[in-house]
Amino acid sequence: MLFSVKNSRGCFKRAMQVSKRNWLCLILIFLLYLSLTNISQVTYKKNGSSVSYDKSLHSNWMFKISKNYDYIYLREWTEPTKVIVSVSSGRGENGTAFVPTSDEKPIMEKRLKEQHYNVLASEKMSLRRSLPDYRFPECRSLIYPKKLPTATVIIVVHNEIWATLLRTVWSIIDRSPRELIEEIIIVDDASTWTHLKQPLDDYAKTLPANIKIMRTENREGLIRARIKGANMAKGNILIFLDAHIECTEGWLQPILSRIAWDRSVVAVPLIDGISTENMGYQKFPLEINGLHWSLIFDWMPVPEREIIRTKHDRTAPLRTPTHIGCAFAMDREFFFEIGSYDEGMDIWGSENVELAWRTWMCGGSLEILPCSRVAHLFRSSTYSFDGNAEQIKTRNNNRLIEVWMDEFKNRIYAAYPRTKSVSPGDLTQRKNLRKQLNCKSFRWYLENIYPESAWFKEFINMGSIKNVAENKCLDAYTIKISQNLMTYSCHNVGGAQFFAFSTSGQIMTFRDPCVGIGSDKKSVVVVKCSETDKSQFWDYKQEEKWIVHRESNLCMTKHENRIIIDTCNPFDNKFKWELKSGA
Ligand code: UDP
Ligand code: MN
Repeated sequence: MLFSVKNSRGCFKRAMQVSKRNWLCLILIFLLYLSLTNISQVTYKKNGSSVSYDKSLHSNWMFKISKNYDYIYLREWTEPTKVIVSVSSGRGENGTAFVPTSDEKPIMEKRLKEQHYNVLASEKMSLRRSLPDYRFPECRSLIYPKKLPTATVIIVVHNEIWATLLRTVWSIIDRSPRELIEEIIIVDDASTWTHLKQPLDDYAKTLPANIKIMRTENREGLIRARIKGANMAKGNILIFLDAHIECTEGWLQPILSRIAWDRSVVAVPLIDGISTENMGYQKFPLEINGLHWSLIFDWMPVPEREIIRTKHDRTAPLRTPTHIGCAFAMDREFFFEIGSYDEGMDIWGSENVELAWRTWMCGGSLEILPCSRVAHLFRSSTYSFDGNAEQIKTRNNNRLIEVWMDEFKNRIYAAYPRTKSVSPGDLTQRKNLRKQLNCKSFRWYLENIYPESAWFKEFINMGSIKNVAENKCLDAYTIKISQNLMTYSCHNVGGAQFFAFSTSGQIMTFRDPCVGIGSDKKSVVVVKCSETDKSQFWDYKQEEKWIVHRESNLCMTKHENRIIIDTCNPFDNKFKWELKSGA
């Protein structure tokens, strides 16, 4: 009986039909099997007792796939043996920064400029260099289930440096239990660099892993390239990684364990950095991700609410409103059931936010796993977008906004009025998907997942603030903290001239900081928003057209080159401001 149970799910069903009288026996065997395989406790265990933070936000399981894996699909695994192939005194070892010789400097500078990161450093370091282990000590005492689901790692790549890509691959091979990596799929997205053709095929054959290389016929962009990889994948779990990543010790087990516990979790490792200047490994703090106005991705400190929910346990998965997109994992079937990616998005951008919102709003969850650390090289890309980059990014963004943001989309268009004219293309499929999956509203997302978001506030105006005397607009310029505000010819494109004046009295810039007062108690400057800082609250007096600083009762005015607060003067138009909606 047990034999057929082990064989396949179909056999299991048939076995149950023929031997109804053996029900009890079967259940007992099943329970015994569960306890042996540890499947009932696919969670983090500490000092022998299991800890779970799994109180779901969603009332019931709403997917076709089951919440957990059928145990017959799980694989027993062993810790990878530590491979010491590089010379410990070698360059870049233990994640150290590269130091050039005087001969190397000129060529290093040249290539750094070309690729926006230190390519020479990458090439001079071992492909299998050692890395520091920055995990919290608590992480090392966690015990993971003996059997885990398998993973397919998908790396999409368009014109990546050889050493950087291969270091990514080696870091997966060397630091993952072999049994758990079903395959590594490299999707070459129409690269033009020849080392990514035959040389890559040849090298891949020599690697001690199941490496598959796919090539797109035309440039697809990272979004469709990832879907193509996923379509071919065989592992239970898909792990998407950029082509310039280094995985650290123990990175894989937390990811697989968490998803095995709940297949609707999209798991994100704690992202560290690789320095563009010298390829040194940079430890990043444990933070979660949010967004600015205008949907710019941002890091944010772990909010108190999350620290309380996870009972101050630094190993616990943290709910995050968004994710960065360079490294994450999700169940393969769940990926497709929840709508994979928006195939209408091109090249790069917005797909990470789209996946995050869709996951949350349609019944899944997005979490950062502090015990899994993966480093990403934060270089700005040099590749061509195969078209107008700004146009492509805006179009992707508009697809995201139009499908998911409900009435809140106008806040984005208010910050960037010009983007509204870029057509998002046909959205029927994505809108239908949202209906079919019975997804919740954007307001629900803000209330439950992202209560810190500025979008959640009410505003008396979103748009520009024009000085009546000058006929010029208030401008936050580079939006650096402490920097003075100024006035500038109104350009009506939002950005630094966009201000969201909240009903509670804060004036926010499009990148989040607020308008406040400098240390001289006179200058109007950019400050970090704070609900408790009384000096950054203002009132708009409709009749007088004054912006009154609430704490001092002084009025905002233009004085010489600066914006300051001064005694309100009804006879001077420099004290008068008009709020103009940008939507
Ligand atoms: N990529 C791709 N096709 C593209 C653009 C990017 O396959 O048209 C790959 C790229 O090589 C990288 C991943 O997608 O592995 C993410 O892109 P990138 O690193 O430029 O994004 P960033 O990390 O800068 O947001
Ligand atoms: Mn990247």
